[in-house]
Amino acid sequence: MKKFGLKRIAAFAAVGIMALSLPANANAPIRTSIILPPAMNQHPVMRVAILQNVDKARLEFSSPYTVKHPITGDLLAQGLPQKEIIVNTSEDGILLDGRLIRTPHFTVITEDEMVQIEGRTYRAALRVQKNEKGKLLLVNEIAIDEYLKGVLPGEVDPRWHMEALKAQAVAARTFALFQALKNPEAPFFLTNDVKSQVYTGKNSEHIRTSEAVDATRGQVLTYRGMLFTGYFHSSCGGRTTSADAVWHAIPIVPLSGVTCGFCAGNKYDSWKSEFTFEEIRKKLNDRGYKFGTIKRIDELDHDRSGRIKRVAIHHSAGTRNMPASDFRLFIGADKMRSTLAKFQNSGGKLLITGKGWGHGVGMCQWGSKTMAERSFQYDNILRFYYPGSQISQAYSSPIEKPSGNWFSRSIDTIKGWFGA
Ligand SMILES: [Zn+2]
Repeated sequence: MKKFGLKRIAAFAAVGIMALSLPANANAPIRTSIILPPAMNQHPVMRVAILQNVDKARLEFSSPYTVKHPITGDLLAQGLPQKEIIVNTSEDGILLDGRLIRTPHFTVITEDEMVQIEGRTYRAALRVQKNEKGKLLLVNEIAIDEYLKGVLPGEVDPRWHMEALKAQAVAARTFALFQALKNPEAPFFLTNDVKSQVYTGKNSEHIRTSEAVDATRGQVLTYRGMLFTGYFHSSCGGRTTSADAVWHAIPIVPLSGVTCGFCAGNKYDSWKSEFTFEEIRKKLNDRGYKFGTIKRIDELDHDRSGRIKRVAIHHSAGTRNMPASDFRLFIGADKMRSTLAKFQNSGGKLLITGKGWGHGVGMCQWGSKTMAERSFQYDNILRFYYPGSQISQAYSSPIEKPSGNWFSRSIDTIKGWFGA
């Protein structure tokens, strides 16, 4: 039972959602809002990918378990508690502890409503799916509020003021529900890493962040009746920016950027980093580019918040421009912490000085911490960072016991909201 120390938690708190950039040449703008259906009377179920494209995985069940068909709910197998169960594939189906289950996917439900995947404990149900290449996808199917309890401690420090934790709960719920509504039939809505929200399962839950989830049950952010992507990031460096300045996204008022001023002076407020041109060339070429010897790298233009929009890379075979948010991800988003930065070329190196950490869109987590300490309530914090937004009740129903056909039922539920 590994538990993260508070230091580790604080490091996570610095990250926020980072890696939501698009491939450099994608043409269609990213959708930023979707109609929120009338309040639903079932607690939404999330699908979170825990392992993707693996040949096998090690599971552990500490109570009796049943294996069910994810669409019909039919019983396929059952077993007693077991320390090590290997799941792998065969031509005819999936092998669970050497037993052949003749379906391309199944759901495991345990009596204590917990499953262990590669030594980490997750609540609710596990769905195993074999893809056309014979590789396995392992998905945690879990009530959205239980999922959020496993997310929040990875995104903020549980010792923060309760109003900041509640603001984070609503933003994270909004983000997760948006992903589910966007593509209800997808095998999973979210990954367990910074590509969506860091999710480490049951062991990282903390009583205070869980309290923040319970205190805001069903609450999401909307703008004119539309649920929008509740982006957030660690620290904005003074001013947040618009989603369309960072990604090729459809502009929307709540994601248009605000002057923050609340995050000044936190430990992630300003930073410096240094890369050799050769190191940058290698990192970019690892992503499929073909850069020759790099001669200099310039800031090409900036958005209204002062963030670099595009960079110009001068190399031995010419000059190439690329979005600064992609450049940051490719060279290392932990080292080039934001695009609110200044470049200096010197002696075959790029020296970068910058402010803030993260993409800068939506709520600034360190700013929300200060606002909470200055007696702002969570709804005011959210309205400040997402201007024009309001809090809507998406559901009020309690968390349900995991069921064998959650997968098909949640598809039906979501389609039902849209009258499909
Ligand atoms: Zn800020």
